[in-house]
Amino acid sequence: MPIRSDLVVVGAGLGGATAAAVLNRAGFDITVVDRNAVYPHDFRAEQLVGSQIDILRSLGLLDGIVGQTLAVPQATAACHGKVIDARSQVHYGLRYEDMVNATRALATGTRFVTGRVTGIETGNEVQRVTLSDGTTLEARLVVLATGLICDDLLRALGIGRSVISANHSLTFGFDVETSSRGILTYYGEQTGDGIDYLTVFPFGATMRANLFCYRGPSDEWARSFKSRPKQAILEVMPRLEQVLGPFEVVGKVQARFNPIGRAENVRQAGIVLIGDAYQSSCPAVGSGVGRILSDVATLRRLAPAWFATPAMGADKIGQFYDDPLKCRFDQRAIRQAWSRRGLCLNTGWDWQARRSMRLQARRIRSWVHDLARLPRPSEAVSPSPAGPIGSFEGMSANL
Ligand SMILES: Cc1cc2nc3c(=O)[nH]c(=O)nc-3n(C[C@H](O)[C@H](O)[C@H](O)COP(=O)(O)OP(=O)(O)OC[C@H]3O[C@@H](n4cnc5c(N)ncnc54)[C@H](O)[C@@H]3O)c2cc1C
Repeated sequence: MPIRSDLVVVGAGLGGATAAAVLNRAGFDITVVDRNAVYPHDFRAEQLVGSQIDILRSLGLLDGIVGQTLAVPQATAACHGKVIDARSQVHYGLRYEDMVNATRALATGTRFVTGRVTGIETGNEVQRVTLSDGTTLEARLVVLATGLICDDLLRALGIGRSVISANHSLTFGFDVETSSRGILTYYGEQTGDGIDYLTVFPFGATMRANLFCYRGPSDEWARSFKSRPKQAILEVMPRLEQVLGPFEVVGKVQARFNPIGRAENVRQAGIVLIGDAYQSSCPAVGSGVGRILSDVATLRRLAPAWFATPAMGADKIGQFYDDPLKCRFDQRAIRQAWSRRGLCLNTGWDWQARRSMRLQARRIRSWVHDLARLPRPSEAVSPSPAGPIGSFEGMSANL
């Protein structure tokens, strides 16, 4: 006998887990399927910032996700060995798997099935989802949130994935030992070297760093990074220690190339793609989590009307992909991804001018807001849980 529900959410990473929690609270009967009963360790988004926090709070999920994680109320930006901006903006540093597992725990009323989905049959009325062990699930709507690794499932549905930018960016993640306990974003110092920024932030009992850059798989500096991380950082950011203070990289360095792509031929009856399954983002822009939240908020808005009338045809599903807010988020994520890459790789006078104008704009904003006294990162931590919320993109998108 198939397990029946209103909705089946396939994949419970941050996208699927958030969709399940939000739609369940909206009164839908939901079955969630994921290959892993507990989301395993994974190097992904490690901070919540700006309007990500705002939206999670408005969805009633923030407290459950961040739990006891320290809220850091201020962030410092620097370049060329000097602080250029210090602003009130709440940050939480937490492991991706902790975010996901906490979000899953908030979807208390949902049915969770552990297993690998091997087939999805869609139609106007009923959707059938088959697992590798033969279990069958039926629902009126499938929400596909399988991230970047669901290409076989997509192909079987006639859904392709267009590559917008292969290996668009490269992200390194590692722990650092430093006396600083605040949040620092330090921008690349040299024109055209493909280095975007290093962000250093509290992460439980330790300090964590993410370095975002635009270097390819055959780049010598990138290939040697793991074996000599501190030296590699100081080669591209020679004045970093003037702001951060002395530091050491400790433990394992993680590295990920980030492709940008988008699913195509998605306007099909009975199935909606959200998160990276629909469109992947450049981590340097920090729009991956924002896009997930915008997808879930859009679905939350549209789903009640879809379920109030018979059928789940492609016309209803099309409303999701045509939603003006969602389209704006998706397009902006791609625009910003190209723009940041251009700022870091191009040496032409026009790009140089844009880069220095942006840095200058940050300085001026900082003066205007007159944060009285610019704290060193080591002074910026406070356990105070709330503060003014910044722009949607968060600090990482403000260069
Ligand atoms: C290194 C790195 C750093 C990043 N940093 C940031 C950042 O600072 N800010 C930001 O906003 N974004 C960042 N991102 C992007 C962000 O992490 C992603 O956009 C987000 O994790 C995507 O979530 P998702 O739920 O769509 O997919 P995922 O988290 O990948 O979840 C997919 C789920 O589907 C399940 N699944 C897949 N196939 C099947 C199947 N056949 N059957 C059952 N289950 C299945 C998987 O088990 C998994 O649980 C970063 C990404 C990377 C790689």
